[in-house]
Amino acid sequence: MLKNCEVCHRVFSHPARSLCQQCFETAQMSFEAVKKYLRENPGATVAEVSEKTEVPVDLIYEYISEGRLDVVPRDARLKCSICGTDIKVGKVCSKCRADLRSTISTSAPAWESTPRGNTKDANRVHTLDHIKKHIKKR
Ligand SMILES: [Zn+2]
Ligand SMILES: [Zn+2]
Repeated sequence: MLKNCEVCHRVFSHPARSLCQQCFETAQMSFEAVKKYLRENPGATVAEVSEKTEVPVDLIYEYISEGRLDVVPRDARLKCSICGTDIKVGKVCSKCRADLRSTISTSAPAWESTPRGNTKDANRVHTLDHIKKHIKKR
């Protein structure tokens, strides 16, 4: 199946990836740089990591929310997309996650299949509305 790369919009073919080989490798390198920097500088802030690794702040937050970093920046603030409480990893707090698990048990939760780059607040709200509608329907 042919698709367009999310970053450079070049046409490429891959069953799972949304990035072409070149952009995938670049993204991988950015992630490795952030991970390495945080391992060596555990007290670093998001801004500091971004400056040293040249990886955009948005992308660093994406790594954090995806739970991909074993060391997170000191000032990383993540909020539950449902109740707004502070959380360390993921997009919803453990309480809301448990609530949703018991409500939606058939399909994968919407936030777990959110495409890359869709972590803006507007999209979070949209996803939340979507979930609410989904719950109402059932
Ligand atoms: Zn690309
Ligand atoms: Zn919550």
